[in-house]
Amino acid sequence: MEKGELQKLLKNLEGEQKRLKGELGLIADENPEIKGDYKAHFHKPDSSDTADEKAQSVTEYERERAMEQDMEQRLKEVTETIEKIKKGEYGVCANCSTTIQPKRLEAIPTARLCINCAEKASLI
Ligand SMILES: [Zn+2]
Repeated sequence: MEKGELQKLLKNLEGEQKRLKGELGLIADENPEIKGDYKAHFHKPDSSDTADEKAQSVTEYERERAMEQDMEQRLKEVTETIEKIKKGEYGVCANCSTTIQPKRLEAIPTARLCINCAEKASLI
């Protein structure tokens, strides 16, 4: 990948990283002991809540937890990719160290594996 393109990608990823951190901050707290780990806020049922309201709180929590996990996963991928670009290791397969196909990177800029390894991994 060309240097200019890589810089553009880095800028995009840093923007996404900032946005994800902001969004995660709204529904979750960062774990002070594990960097990059987030815990969704729990909607504590109030003792005055009806059974319906309590059920609602649980559903809400589960929904937020699923969202939180998706965003956390995405944030990890984005952060990892940013670090690789900075270290000059971007576009190298994490498993077999071959260069990842440019077309694949175009489709999935945060891909860690080349197409062969990704296929093998998804077969397991
Ligand atoms: Zn590979």
